[in-house]
Amino acid sequence: MAGSPKHEPMVMVKEYCIECAVCREVCPYTAVFFIPTKWKIALQVDQVRCTGCGGPEHAPCVQFCPSPGALVPASSLSPAMAVASPSPASAVGA
Ligand code: SF4
Ligand code: SF4
Repeated sequence: MAGSPKHEPMVMVKEYCIECAVCREVCPYTAVFFIPTKWKIALQVDQVRCTGCGGPEHAPCVQFCPSPGALVPASSLSPAMAVASPSPASAVGA
């Protein structure tokens, strides 16, 4: 097999994400980065760098996330529910 097909990237659900950064620590592709917001630092999944890691049942970010429902495949979330997605160029510590 010529490599595994890329799975859908994950997105964060802002209502559930407690911004603990565990997903950033365990992501093998350094796809989670910090973003500056008006009041604090938040986190975001780089939609290009994220490989999906075989889906939510295998992805380290989902498996280690302490807040169920905070990371879901991109297509299962409406854009309005996701954490704001600025350009990765504005990321901190990417
Ligand atoms: S591990 Fe879960 S709760 Fe923590 S920052 Fe990532 S998505 Fe948010
Ligand atoms: S699915 Fe994999 S590549 Fe994407 S953020 Fe989670 S651990 Fe990182």
